[in-house]
Amino acid sequence: MSLQERLLARFLRYAAVTTQSKAGSKTIPSTPGQWELAHMLAGDIEQLGVLDVSVDEHAVVIGRLPARLPEGHAPVPAVGWVTHMDTVDVGMSPDINPVIIRNYRGGDICQNAEKQLYITAEEHPELERYIGQDIVVSDGTSVLGADDKAAIANVVTALEVLRDNPDIPHGEIYVCFVPDEEIGLCGAKAMDFSRFPVDFAYTIDCCEEGELVYQTFNAAHVLLNITGVTAHPMSSKNNTVNPILIAHDFISLLDRGETPEHTEKTEGYIWVTGIEGNQLNTSVRLLIRDHDRAKFESKKEYLTACTEMMKLRYPKAKLSIEIHDDYSNINDAITPDKRKCVDYIFQAMESLGIEPKDIAMRGGTDGSFISTKGIPTPNYFTGAHNFHSRCEFMPMGAVENSCRTTLRLIELITKG
Ligand SMILES: [Zn+2]
Repeated sequence: MSLQERLLARFLRYAAVTTQSKAGSKTIPSTPGQWELAHMLAGDIEQLGVLDVSVDEHAVVIGRLPARLPEGHAPVPAVGWVTHMDTVDVGMSPDINPVIIRNYRGGDICQNAEKQLYITAEEHPELERYIGQDIVVSDGTSVLGADDKAAIANVVTALEVLRDNPDIPHGEIYVCFVPDEEIGLCGAKAMDFSRFPVDFAYTIDCCEEGELVYQTFNAAHVLLNITGVTAHPMSSKNNTVNPILIAHDFISLLDRGETPEHTEKTEGYIWVTGIEGNQLNTSVRLLIRDHDRAKFESKKEYLTACTEMMKLRYPKAKLSIEIHDDYSNINDAITPDKRKCVDYIFQAMESLGIEPKDIAMRGGTDGSFISTKGIPTPNYFTGAHNFHSRCEFMPMGAVENSCRTTLRLIELITKG
């Protein structure tokens, strides 16, 4: 079987397991299907020679492929690959029924004749690039879940290539499959890093061919709690303190130019995402995002200072603010001695004739959390398009190029 056919077969095997994650769940993994996929993957990689394979209490799968180096070879860094098992819930069916379009000829793709669902060439002119390739889509009732099962297929198939080609030398390789990425990087946060002793790692969770991300937001979430004083209106003068109006004053202190709707590229923002209140208690939820660590910290300080100012203005009110870091800019973990993990991606792509598309991502990846553990973890393309949409599609030539990038990375890291 060709590399592409093997990638497709593996993708279909993993897509058949329903693993949509569920926000608000009290458990990790959030849904039982992720257990099923975790055990399936553990079995698959064991068959490919991966040792010490474990599925922990959160369905995080970790395994280690021992180094295979000729005697006297220079030491090779230990490298990891992390991919996520869940698919996103955007209000569509959790079950995924892939449709394979062999040798795409151009024009609209019919996903579902019965329901008259199409991916149109007019709305998706990028389809044209893949004329002549096999393209995989969903039946239009769900996402495709190439995010991130194309990546899982990629890693497992790369392991298979290594098993089948004992002449390819490589250092120690760790693979990790995590649940619940889509609901707040929960699986990565539950990882036992003592079982993942790598020098650096990669995620494969970008979209189209060539995309790579090592600049992400620094992210924090904030909860402001305000307790006021209630009184009957007949005795309210100089007595009542309305926490809803304090929340209003607090929000008025924020820069209206630093919101998601007024920023782009590497500009940061503070996003008021929720307000809930009554005449006694009011809470405000906010998110802080900034690529720049110093600006990120100063946004936190500003919110704390605003809280202090409200305390001065309303001495009878009680205010408290909680600020929790969620993830960090991967780039901050890429110290000069570890810069090579990014260089390797550029080199791998260039040697394969793939044009690198370096993106400062306005979001985070599993790598944004893993990087906070001192493991720089850049992210590169799966080859698929339109994540989180029924129009998600996977051109198999691009998926193959993603797997070739993985194999080339292994080669370059081994050469050093
Ligand atoms: Zn993803």
